[in-house]
Amino acid sequence: LIELDNIHKSFGNTEVLKGISLEVTKGEAVCIIGPSGSGKSTILRCINGLLPIDDGFIRVGEHRVHEIESEKAMRPLRHQVAMVFQQYNLFPHRTVLDNVMMAPMQVLKHQREAVHERALRLLKKVRLEGKEGRYPGELSGGQQQRVAIARALAMQPEIILFDEVTAALDPETVKEVLNTIRELVDDGLTCLLVTHEMRFAREVSHRVCFTDKGKIVEMAPPAQLFDDPQDARTREFLGQVL
Ligand code: ATP
Ligand code: MG
Repeated sequence: LIELDNIHKSFGNTEVLKGISLEVTKGEAVCIIGPSGSGKSTILRCINGLLPIDDGFIRVGEHRVHEIESEKAMRPLRHQVAMVFQQYNLFPHRTVLDNVMMAPMQVLKHQREAVHERALRLLKKVRLEGKEGRYPGELSGGQQQRVAIARALAMQPEIILFDEVTAALDPETVKEVLNTIRELVDDGLTCLLVTHEMRFAREVSHRVCFTDKGKIVEMAPPAQLFDDPQDARTREFLGQVL
């Protein structure tokens, strides 16, 4: 479903992605781990076309992302690929329900009634039943992050990219959010997750990808990558974080 072939990306004179190749099949959950600055967020931003690449090939479903020229032509891709960030970016003056309903109404132009029904169902799915009328500021960080996930799901994406969505949360609420993501993976949604939660990467993902200095050093099923890393850099990183 996602295919990256030898992508290169520089900011000014600094090459931050040095030939990244990665394939994600439908229904697969792949975690990207690695040191700060290794290019993890940049990979996600290239996949949904937020950043143009300098060289290489990116395909997402039918879309050849590296060939898309205008923002307008990018829209079908953005509908297919949702992204959830560390900062939830909810609209503070809109209720939880409105936050989830806005994009499908305004962007997809779906009928209010259908969107409303779907939003209620999604809020139930992320265990926020009863909070529909609240404002984001009245919720905990973990609850706000789950609203952000429901909002992403409301666009009915085929793929969700998660960039350290639990990094700003306290330990108890991290668990709620990870459980929500785990359910999405179990439902068969294709997920690419950048995370520092090694246990989660191990339990939830089908494959783990270790990046360092703009390259994929090692990619393997979690049991293999965590228990029997092949590369010295992977071993060193895991030694520091585990
Ligand atoms: P972290 O774990 O800290 O989030 P990361 O692996 O996600 O790190 P990236 O955000 O992908 O790292 O950044 C990779 C490198 O690219 C870093 O050295 C960063 O400083 C640089 N970089 C990222 N975005 C930009 C930008 N817009 N302009 C210039 N340099 C950038
Ligand atoms: Mg990052």
